[in-house]
Amino acid sequence: MSKVILTGDRPTGKLHIGHYVGSLRRRVELQNSGEFDDIFIMIADAQALTDNAENPEKVRQNIIEVALDYLAVGLDPAKSTLFVQSQIPELTELSFYYMNLVTVARLQRNPTVKSEIQMRDFKASIPVGFFTYPISQAADITAFKATTVPVGEDQEPMIEQCREIVHKFNSIYGEALVEPKILLPDNKACLRLPGTDGQAKMSKSIGNCIYLSESPESIKKKVMSMFTDPNHLRVEDPGEVENNPVFIYLTAFARDEHFAEFAPDYANLDEMKAHYQRGGLGDVKVKKFLNNVLQAELEPIRKRREEFQKDIPYVYDVLKKGSEVAEERAAQTLSDVKKAMKIDYFSDEELIAMQSAKYQENND
Ligand code: ATP
Ligand code: MG
Repeated sequence: MSKVILTGDRPTGKLHIGHYVGSLRRRVELQNSGEFDDIFIMIADAQALTDNAENPEKVRQNIIEVALDYLAVGLDPAKSTLFVQSQIPELTELSFYYMNLVTVARLQRNPTVKSEIQMRDFKASIPVGFFTYPISQAADITAFKATTVPVGEDQEPMIEQCREIVHKFNSIYGEALVEPKILLPDNKACLRLPGTDGQAKMSKSIGNCIYLSESPESIKKKVMSMFTDPNHLRVEDPGEVENNPVFIYLTAFARDEHFAEFAPDYANLDEMKAHYQRGGLGDVKVKKFLNNVLQAELEPIRKRREEFQKDIPYVYDVLKKGSEVAEERAAQTLSDVKKAMKIDYFSDEELIAMQSAKYQENND
């Protein structure tokens, strides 16, 4: 069986370092590993509209921002198909059929949808499209017969729901769909990077982010005003590293080379953590180190973005061509699905012959 990746992002803002460690960095490694037959990377604009119906301009503006971030981190259109969800009508059609395989109660139990509904303060007025987006996400994944979905931890319930849909579809209609596997980051700190405000998750919709395209001055400002251990008041106090976003970011980003270059008193992060825990290491010093690490990691990304920003028509063209390739693949799957569901009336010669025979007999 071929190995296929499908993953993507909602164009609700520029991409941030949470996306980078949660998914983007891994995608680029997988792309360059040569182990996959096909890689599809989707800008999920139709999904973004499910909770931004009144703000289509926001979604429209952010298509190019996400595409620039993709190219900046090293996704390569020669190796990965970059495309836009709404341009593939087959995805909507698949969603419609999958809706029959999912109960309202099952959707209501999805913990990510539950917490997102709370976060968006929908109360009783949840848009149906938003409520059912896990189904549309299953359509996105299965349309490409994806075997691997590299995403952050918040997507776990979506992939689980997708696997259930595939299982149900295949058991009713025959094996037409492929069950995908989630690929989570190995590094625990990257599963769900917290926001700079110490909130559970860095998220475009909350605005507690450090963006990949952030200017050096702004990165520094955000790092220096980050939330840390609230009980670490004086330098000599023992500090906590577990729920401390500064240390979580360091766990996600700092490599031994960074210590050699920016903090030679320590060989690695474990030594720095131990110093902080026993007391005697101030927050300002740790934040300055984090700033240096982030500057070193983000500079090449920002520079590459600046290059691509000089040729925006090229970037739209990449998405257009990618969308054409993606549509061809999704159309093939939709045709398999319709055949499996027996809604391929006009190309089913057996059906036509059978119905003819039935009426022939009656006439005789
Ligand atoms: P929105 O607030 O609009 O939902 P978002 O910031 O949650 O935006 P998405 O486009 O929903 O971003 O997610 C894109 C990918 O990035 C997903 O694979 C998701 O798991 C991952 N991701 C998002 N935020 C984080 C984070 N803070 N830490 C790790 N991974 C993340
Ligand atoms: Mg999200």
